[in-house]
Amino acid sequence: MTRFRCIAERCEDTCCGGLRVGVSEASVQRIHETLRAAGAPEPIEEFSIPFPEGAPSERVLLRMRPDGHCVFFSAERNCSLHRDHGEAVLPDVCSTFPRTLWKQDGRLEVSGSLACPEAVRLLLLAEDAVEPVPVTPGLVTRPEAARPAPGLPGDPYVLHAGAVRDALREFLLPRGHPLSSRLSALARWAFRMDALFRGPNPLPEGEEEIGALLRAELQSGGAAMAVAQVPREPLEPWEEGGPRVLRLLTQLKDLSGVTRSERFARFVQGSRMALGVTGEEAQDGSGAWRLYTVRRAGLEAHHGPRLEQYFHHYLENYLLRHPHTEAFGLQAYVYRLSVRLARVRLTLVAHPEVSSGCARETLDQAAVECFQVLSRNVDLAPDFLALPREGLTGDRALCLQETLAWARFS
Ligand code: SF4
Repeated sequence: MTRFRCIAERCEDTCCGGLRVGVSEASVQRIHETLRAAGAPEPIEEFSIPFPEGAPSERVLLRMRPDGHCVFFSAERNCSLHRDHGEAVLPDVCSTFPRTLWKQDGRLEVSGSLACPEAVRLLLLAEDAVEPVPVTPGLVTRPEAARPAPGLPGDPYVLHAGAVRDALREFLLPRGHPLSSRLSALARWAFRMDALFRGPNPLPEGEEEIGALLRAELQSGGAAMAVAQVPREPLEPWEEGGPRVLRLLTQLKDLSGVTRSERFARFVQGSRMALGVTGEEAQDGSGAWRLYTVRRAGLEAHHGPRLEQYFHHYLENYLLRHPHTEAFGLQAYVYRLSVRLARVRLTLVAHPEVSSGCARETLDQAAVECFQVLSRNVDLAPDFLALPREGLTGDRALCLQETLAWARFS
């Protein structure tokens, strides 16, 4: 994010388009006062909608117009509040976007939202994009807006979040094994860890005892060995492949029917056409799966290292942007990640501009579009990521099988 500069009118999307923007009551008050002091007209319609069930920083929603944009979005495709009254009047979320700020272990962590195309370009395409650097003064306009990392205080799962995140990195980031193997090994480990943190048997009382248990689970080299032991699954044949392709594409089509984004609708239609999906009723998906595997094999043969870079950088950012404590347990977290990765892999392989012989620039553009469009239009739709019965009483073995199946797409 040190290199990020908003490209404003040249942006192929907008910050607020199609999103639900939650702000604090104090932000709304500040906007009212600024407009009044400047003698500026308020938007014709009330610009805020009470949202009492939101967190304190999101207790009011900014009203969106029928075209999906904020009422302050101007005909020149920029924010009229920012343009006319400066940055200071913006709500925190508008001022910091596309940066995501968390307070983690007493320090500020900054990552990028992939809803912003420019942030995605920088993240995916620059080879050194994910080298960690200290947060320097001035990098973030409002460091005080950082939220505490999610999770209940005193929960051992949260108290030991640092050790768990180190383990997630050990599983997910080393190169040399297919991402599907790394995800599968991680899913099995998450299954065991949830039994420890969320199982019926209480954890030992003392901090030290819990620490010792964790260290036993995370002993050095454990992740690498677990990944190496996962046999590489051939992509073909797989009888579940076709139905799962259809399921993802149907979900995307349904969602494109409720979002107001023509860009997203075109994107979904392009993926479906490329995989020969015209209507699910009469299809078993075998043709779509065959097309997917052929296209994917060609892409990997010609562009393997570039694909690896996209996903590696995505994961580095993901682990910062989505702390694992945002999910009830590790299994749910790994499941969501696996579904997200499956969706982006599927749409990239099916992108109409992409083929084994395409130029790297074409592949780069398609990758930016896939990661960004899915992040903006799909990631915030919670039903898309819900694990079947992910609570304490859920069928954990079924959840594991589902996660392993989606991991196979990666
Ligand atoms: S989405 Fe990103 S690049 Fe586009 S206008 Fe917003 S901050 Fe700028």
